[in-house]
Amino acid sequence: MRTVHHFIDGKAVAGTSGRFGDVFDPNTGAVQARVNLASVDEMNAAIASAAIAQKDWAAVNPQRRARVLFEFKRLVERDMDVLAALLSAEHGKVLADSRGDVQRGLEVIEFACGIPHLLKGDHTLGAGPGIDVFSMRVPLGVVAGITPFNFPAMIPMWMFGPAIACGNAFILKPSERDPSVPVKFAELMMEAGLPAGVLQVAHGDKDAVDAILDHPEIKAVSFVGSSDIAHYVYSRGTANAKRVQAMGGAKNHAIVLPDADMDQTVADLVGAAFGSAGERCMALPVVVPVGEGTAETLRSRLLPEIAKLRIGVSTDAQAHYGPVVSAAHKARIENYIQMGVDEGAELVVDGRGFTLQGHEGGFFVGPTFFDHVQPTARSYQEEIFGPVLQMVRADSFEAALALPSRHQYGNGVAIFTRNGPAARAFAANVEVGMVGINVPIPVPVAYHTFGGWKRSAFGNSNIHGPEGVRFYTKIKTVTQRWPSLNAGDGVIDSSFVIPTMK
Ligand code: NAD
Repeated sequence: MRTVHHFIDGKAVAGTSGRFGDVFDPNTGAVQARVNLASVDEMNAAIASAAIAQKDWAAVNPQRRARVLFEFKRLVERDMDVLAALLSAEHGKVLADSRGDVQRGLEVIEFACGIPHLLKGDHTLGAGPGIDVFSMRVPLGVVAGITPFNFPAMIPMWMFGPAIACGNAFILKPSERDPSVPVKFAELMMEAGLPAGVLQVAHGDKDAVDAILDHPEIKAVSFVGSSDIAHYVYSRGTANAKRVQAMGGAKNHAIVLPDADMDQTVADLVGAAFGSAGERCMALPVVVPVGEGTAETLRSRLLPEIAKLRIGVSTDAQAHYGPVVSAAHKARIENYIQMGVDEGAELVVDGRGFTLQGHEGGFFVGPTFFDHVQPTARSYQEEIFGPVLQMVRADSFEAALALPSRHQYGNGVAIFTRNGPAARAFAANVEVGMVGINVPIPVPVAYHTFGGWKRSAFGNSNIHGPEGVRFYTKIKTVTQRWPSLNAGDGVIDSSFVIPTMK
């Protein structure tokens, strides 16, 4: 059986912990590989050699660092089909969606290619008599990223692209459920000219994460995953005086006003609720029609579209979505469906018990649609992360606005309407970090910045864009004055008070 190794100091390294995780083929349910799980000692060794490599890397000028990323982008594009196939085989998302996963990450690499410009500091000539002040952004040292299973290409690139461009070394601890694409990225970065040790990929579970959080050499941690773990990572990392950005779970709402373009809204909703089997933190698992008429129209228009959905293996080019990531996750989703029934919602389409002929062991869940879901229901309040769409009816704009605003999560939200002032008021007042107006999945482009509110993100920093550059650097400010070349000229007497501009 294939073993997924760590990638340390520029080469594949077999683990020494004796611990492994199973990597499944979600299409069949079979174990297709095993992945090394690093011990604390292995993690510490990877961090120690990254710290040595970082010193030289930080001294490489930003333009040369950018050239490595330009070349990495070319290599990823060259290998796009191989990467997408590997990603789909471990994650289960369909191939076109895997290409999108790689492409959205590459867009952050493109942004990071502009690092010479992004790192330019500020300069004030003549801040005082003969005094100039300038500030510069310098790398932090060794930083780390801990990533979830659902975007095994995009999210690592969100992190290591800007971090490495800024002159840091990066320890990547990818999800142990689909660990192969991140290793390929490390190989391609070497091929692109990155020195050994600047990007280390160490696989693992809680032991590896705790080693990162406790190691004094790690200066900043980026995390994306579920909220309880995000909170844990944030608490433990900041207690150890690290900079931490920890993105968590989500439950994004689609608000539909009576004047929405219903054809487009239905098309957008079906794609955003069921695409990637609902395993996206920017999916739309809740729809809130405003008014009974809107609810009835939407329901009658959604049902035939849901009936048309094709569920298939990840290599099926006609499939709208593939299997979910694991048997445990499939069981969790089906438990939430039962919970919804027990809580009294109307189960209009039941995706439980779905099997694909010839792939009976695969982790497939059929599309599921609930109507008349109450905001008090636990199945509404918690993240399901599967192909389940819940309809919560609202009788007014204000009631609809309150639902995502009061929800524990605040990652994304979308409003569908032709009413400009209503959309504007919604965007201004909703308590959510990323808002779409007639845009179902408002993941900001790479040169803006990504982040939710409330239990969807812990820490004060968004990921990628200018915020990413700020997160992976610290500022040094220099105040300088040069003595006259003629000894004794212009000597200023000692001063015993704080210098001011008075
Ligand atoms: P997860 O929280 O189970 O795992 C994320 C990472 O944490 C993995 O690398 C995993 O190895 C590690 N981990 C797991 N348990 C741990 C523990 N007890 N201690 C320390 N580390 C631990 O998340 P997942 O199932 O891989 O991903 C799905 C979740 O990620 C969903 O909740 C989804 O909403 C969220 N997500 C959020 C965003 C965002 O930007 N807000 C983006 C993508 C995914």
